[in-house]
Amino acid sequence: MTAEISHATPAGFAAHIQNRTEYAEIANQYFDDTINGQHKIDVMLGGGRNHFIRDDRNLTKEFQAHGYDIVHTKQELLNSTHPHVLGLFSEFGLPMAVDRWSNVTPSLAEMVGNAIDRLNTGDQGFFLMVEGSQIDWAAHHQDIVGIISEIDDYAKAFETAIEFAKKDGNTLVISTSDHATGGMTMGVNNIDSWLPAYIRKIQSTPEHIAQLTQESNDWIQVIQDNIQFELSSTEQNKLRAIHNTYVYTYEEKVSRLTDAIKEIVDRRSNTGWTTGNHTGEDVNVYAYGPAAQYFSGWHENSDTGKMLKALAANQTPHLEDEN
Ligand SMILES: [Zn+2]
Repeated sequence: MTAEISHATPAGFAAHIQNRTEYAEIANQYFDDTINGQHKIDVMLGGGRNHFIRDDRNLTKEFQAHGYDIVHTKQELLNSTHPHVLGLFSEFGLPMAVDRWSNVTPSLAEMVGNAIDRLNTGDQGFFLMVEGSQIDWAAHHQDIVGIISEIDDYAKAFETAIEFAKKDGNTLVISTSDHATGGMTMGVNNIDSWLPAYIRKIQSTPEHIAQLTQESNDWIQVIQDNIQFELSSTEQNKLRAIHNTYVYTYEEKVSRLTDAIKEIVDRRSNTGWTTGNHTGEDVNVYAYGPAAQYFSGWHENSDTGKMLKALAANQTPHLEDEN
């Protein structure tokens, strides 16, 4: 996953807690709660090093003492062969895919492939939860560059899972989300064409570009190089007005430049937003493999978990509201 391993979605599968923000306690439970003397999760790959290595407890040392490989980079992950691994590739969330150094941070697809190789060993089968965590984060920030970066990272991971399932012939793959975010509109101001070609040219998320401007004297060139379409004089003047305001702190300047770059990208590509929060429309569920038929049609989102639970116990999913 691309968020912290102690974030809400993995915790929903592997911890019991009152509040999702109790990250340290969630990480503790991954180690402390055992089933028949075994830790509950064999393979953990993502961010959140700071929730595992703390002043009061260093869970990486504890997992290592119990035989887990501990890895912090893509190369260390590739070198590790133990079936049990804890991979912490960032202090908190991973950088978004477009901002990642691909030789240091694994892609989500690489994490999925690596996890499947480790888990697909016995005749018992396995359960793997994968989260494209930052699609939602980018949408909260109304950042279309980040959204496309993270959806692409997730789509490749989904392909990796499907390729395995096709070969294996006995694996169910389900892809869904618990909600949508941002209310993204393709075509704004009564213009009905969305122009993603502008977005495809951009080399980094707006926030990362804004940070890079603060490390360079030729800051406008930094933006130009990362955007890769010619900035108009109006666009340049807006950026200059922010950059030349000396009363802003570093954070204020980065945040205002980020917003200005996002606005340029939105205007060029005709991308619009209705909210910086979650939205209420139905979301898609995709299922492939044995038992995929149970996931077609319209379901309450909590049914997905109930169906997974029944299938894991080799039972036929039976939903109460279908009587
Ligand atoms: Zn959210």
